[in-house]
This record gives sequence, structure tokens and C-alpha cells, in this order.
Amino acid sequence: MAETGTNKIIVIGGGYAGLRVVEKLAKNPHNEIRLFDKNSYHFMQTEVYDLIANEEDFAQVSVDLFTFCMGFDGNVVFTKQEVCTVDFSNKKVITSAQRHKYDYLVIAVGARTKFVTDVVGLRTHAHGIKVLHRAMHFKQKFEMALFKRVEQSGTTCSAINIVVAGGGLSGVEIAAQMASFAKRFYRKNNFICRKLSIILINSGEKILQGLDEKLVTKSDERLQELGVSIRHKCRVAEINEHSVTLSSAEVLPMDFMVFAGGIEPNALVCDLQLEKNERGYIITNSHLQVSHHEEVFAIGDCTTIYNKNSIVAPTADTAEQTAEICARNIANLIHKKPLIAHAIKSRGVLIALGRNYAVGKVYGIYVSGYFAFVIKKIVERVYAKRLDMHSCKGCKKIFID
Ligand SMILES: Cc1cc2nc3c(=O)[nH]c(=O)nc-3n(C[C@H](O)[C@H](O)[C@H](O)COP(=O)(O)OP(=O)(O)OC[C@H]3O[C@@H](n4cnc5c(N)ncnc54)[C@H](O)[C@@H]3O)c2cc1C
Repeated sequence: MAETGTNKIIVIGGGYAGLRVVEKLAKNPHNEIRLFDKNSYHFMQTEVYDLIANEEDFAQVSVDLFTFCMGFDGNVVFTKQEVCTVDFSNKKVITSAQRHKYDYLVIAVGARTKFVTDVVGLRTHAHGIKVLHRAMHFKQKFEMALFKRVEQSGTTCSAINIVVAGGGLSGVEIAAQMASFAKRFYRKNNFICRKLSIILINSGEKILQGLDEKLVTKSDERLQELGVSIRHKCRVAEINEHSVTLSSAEVLPMDFMVFAGGIEPNALVCDLQLEKNERGYIITNSHLQVSHHEEVFAIGDCTTIYNKNSIVAPTADTAEQTAEICARNIANLIHKKPLIAHAIKSRGVLIALGRNYAVGKVYGIYVSGYFAFVIKKIVERVYAKRLDMHSCKGCKKIFID
């Protein structure tokens, strides 16, 4: 496309990667950008622990994509449609309603919770938290369970049994946050019945596999302090309405269960006729282009990022870094300049472990306790503020123009 002509750019997915690439590309007035998402909002998954613990409501963890896109200089449009497939030969994105032509395409559709199919009852009885409506449903169930115990107070005192499957970042954060919230709830309201059992199921020998040893130890200690008990080296074998059977044959009573046992490529990625790796993620080159289509990029959780042969953890931070490289490379393609190779690596990790407490390593420095919590909050607030700036501009246009 000529530098002075219009560049039709389609971005599929309004997540961390998709929004960042839109922000960057929108700076060129010759770029005509269309963002597709199946939902009308961007969901800040990194803050789901606060949603569940009632520290934030759903409006604080989501951003309206219509107003966000309206906040640019008229060159970004949002379309709330699920993309069914892409016709790469004819450069068209296909939804159930329309076909849209592109000059450049960015695939940023993230990943989905991996509900393993061989676990009987998993889909029916476990909650995922990667999508907002499921997280909301889970939050409400958790609150209702606490309320029921309040109602029963003075007559019976039965425990709330929560099982969290998955000893990764999200499983650990959710278990810690629920334990912390319930403790505070019981204390604040002086309830007599304070029985709560949170059991974290972890398939490995230690939680937070792949993370720094010091962070693993600190997180482990904090979970113990909060009363979360961990079952290492076992998996969920079967679930019914009231219990979970583990691979160790132990049967745990269960009121509800969160499944955070990993992610996998989503339906669109599975469908696309592109080269994928052994786990089904889109293969990209060092410029983040897919094979055989130089105008098509894949960024964020739907691809696997390598740095010197080791996998870079799929996080919001990684997703944003891929978006920035992708935007620069699309600009370079437009201006016929050489593309840049990425050297993405994790800038840090911050793990929320209950109210006012986090542990982390940021740019190589260990942080813990309230200080780490404050850093995590600042990172989240800066991110939300940035998106809010566009949304506010969009809102003003809708209501004043
Ligand atoms: C509980 C939890 C806690 C986490 N905590 C952290 C943390 O503390 N720090 C951190 O860095 N990372 C964290 N992560 C990971 C982080 O959220 C992901 O790595 C990040 O969301 C990836 O961004 P993305 O843009 O690739 O995908 P997503 O943010 O998942 O966005 C993908 C978007 O694509 C849309 N979409 C999908 N398919 C289609 C389709 N066919 N058509 C149209 N739209 C589609 C979706 O609706 C979604 O809006 C956490 C994740 C979870 C679940």
C-alpha cells in the first residue's frame, strides 16, 4: 500500500495485545483500522482476583470497546462480531454477518482455558475465570455461599469447600484472594461460623512451575499463612456436584471449583489454515509474521514467543510487547523499510496473594508484602488510565457531537 494511500488494517481481538496495537497504529492517519471482538468489552484478566474478592466491580475490570475506538481521530472502528475464519488468499476476514477486506491483518485472539476432556464432569461442574461472564458467575456463587453461612449462623456451621485446580499464576492468585477475602469477611462481621476449606491442586512438585525459586517459596509460605492447603503431584480425576476425586484417589468435598489448569489455542486459531506448533499455537517468525503471508501477524497468547530457544511466559506484559513490535513492523512494511526482529523477555512478575500483599520480581529486583502490592496496583492503574483516556474521548464525542 502506498505511503499516502489508505492502509486497511484489521485487528482480531480486543485484549491486551489487540488494544496496544490499535493504539500504536492509530497514530498514522492513513491507517484505517477495524477492531473485531466477539465481546463489546476488553476484560482485564490480570485483575480478576480483585473482582472475585469484591475489591472491584465488573465495570472496573472491563473497558467498553465502542467508546475506546471512538476515542481516536476517526480512523478506528469497532465491530462486535466473532470472526469465524480468514480467507488468506483473498485477504478477507469472515464473520457470520460479513466479509471484510484487509491490507494488513493482526491476529490477537488470546487463548482459552484448557478444559481437559478426559476428566468426567469438568465442563459441567468447574468454573473458568478467563472470560468475564464466567468470573462474574463464580464471584456471585462465592458470595452466595458466604451469605448462606451467615443465614445459618447459630443453627449449623458447615464449611465452605472450595477446590482450585491449577498451581500456576492464576490458580495461586485466586486461592490466596478467596482465602484472604473470606477471613476478612468473617472477622469484620464477627460470625461464629468461620469454617472455610480452600484446597489447591497442583500437578507438579511445587506451585508456580517455571517461576523464580524465591517467589515460589514466598508464595508457598503466604498460602500456608492464609490457610490454603495444597495437594502436590496430583490431578483432578473426576468431579460431580459435591465432590472432586483426585488421581491419588482422595475424595474432596466441594461446594464449587475453579479450574485454572492451563490454556490452549481457541476455536479460531484451531480453524485457521496456518502453520502451528505442536501445542497448536500459530508459528510466527522473529518479526511476528505468520508463515507464507507477510502481511499477517499473530501476537499475544495465540502465538508462542521464544527468546534464545526458551519460551517467554504468555502474559499481558508479553502480549503488549508483541503488539509494539508488530505495530512497528506494519509501519515498516508500509514504508518499505526493513523489519525489526523482536527480543522479547519478561520484564517482571507480580503475584497478588491476598489483600494488601503481593510478591514479585521486577527488572531483576525482588519485592514482597505491601510494597509489592502497591507496585502491582500502580501497574494496573496506569494501564487502566491509559485505556480510559481513549474511552473518555470517545464518550465525549458520542454525547457532544
Ligand atoms: C486469572 C488470570 C490472572 C492473570 N494474571 C496476570 C498477571 O498478573 N500479569 C500478566 O502479565 N498476565 C496475567 N495473566 C495473563 C494475561 O491475562 C494474558 O496473558 C493476556 O490476557 C493475553 O493477552 P491477549 O491480548 O493475547 O489475549 P486476551 O487478553 O485473552 O484477548 C483476546 C481477545 O480476543 C477476543 N476473541 C477471541 N476469539 C475471537 C474471535 N474469534 N473473534 C473476535 N474476537 C475474539 C476475546 O474476546 C478477547 O477480547 C492472567 C490471566 C488470568 C486468566
